[in-house]
Amino acid sequence: METQTMQTSPSTQIVNVGGYQIGGSQFTVIAGPCSIESYDQFLETAKGVKASGAHLLRGGIWKMRTSSKAFQGLGNSSFDFIKAVCKETGMSLVSEVTDARQIEEVYDVVECFQVGSRNMHNYSLLKELGMQKKPVMLKRGFAALIEEWVKAAEYITNGGNPNVILCERGIRTFETATRNTLDLNAVVYAKKNTNLPVIVDPSHAVGIRALVPSLAYAAAAAGADGVIVEVHPRPAEALSDGMQALTLEDFSTMMKRLEKILDAVERPLHKEIANVR
Ligand code: PEP
Ligand code: MN
Repeated sequence: METQTMQTSPSTQIVNVGGYQIGGSQFTVIAGPCSIESYDQFLETAKGVKASGAHLLRGGIWKMRTSSKAFQGLGNSSFDFIKAVCKETGMSLVSEVTDARQIEEVYDVVECFQVGSRNMHNYSLLKELGMQKKPVMLKRGFAALIEEWVKAAEYITNGGNPNVILCERGIRTFETATRNTLDLNAVVYAKKNTNLPVIVDPSHAVGIRALVPSLAYAAAAAGADGVIVEVHPRPAEALSDGMQALTLEDFSTMMKRLEKILDAVERPLHKEIANVR
């Protein structure tokens, strides 16, 4: 890392997503399905995660799948029912744009744009997001150095959009027992050496449902500003990433334990904001 890109100030850029200040003294939980599959599936998930204390929703509209034959997401046809679910639950959505042309199309549907791991190096997409007013959650490329991740963030911030959240989602290592390897070093390093909030995605990091909560607790203990977690009411029926999806019950259990860990590190969960939209 070059010294001129390092920020030694402990102050953090606070990023407001749907009324929640990400990067401040409180911890943010973003939860929802890998893919938005139907009105019923999204509504059931949204209501369930909200009841357990999630602050924001996640859910893929366009998916970056390894296989071109795998489910690619519902795309534009889902916009109306997604808005209805957000309105009904009072929750805001974090969702991935895989192409710069989608930014305008989906602008009224999402509160925070997600850049996926495979697109971290897509500088034309990052430049477009740098010209937007809405916040951006930038996932780390699965083979990206921390320096490359931080420099990717600068494409957005230098373009005029300071509202960037870094998301560590696991990197590819020699280890194959788990989907990826959660790099907690990157979390503490980025917290110390950038001014941006840093959240953790334990779901893609480990890829195994039973192991997801432990990594969420580790992230909280390490000082992450939040977590983004995949949840599905019936993971066996999920059209993507069912193996790593928590059930609504798993998520509820995780939230109760997470609160205790956060207590220990004096980092409370946000209180729910009524009617943030
Ligand atoms: C996702 O969030 O569903 C996703 C595709 O994540 P990543 O880009 O980290 O693989
Ligand atoms: Mn996924």
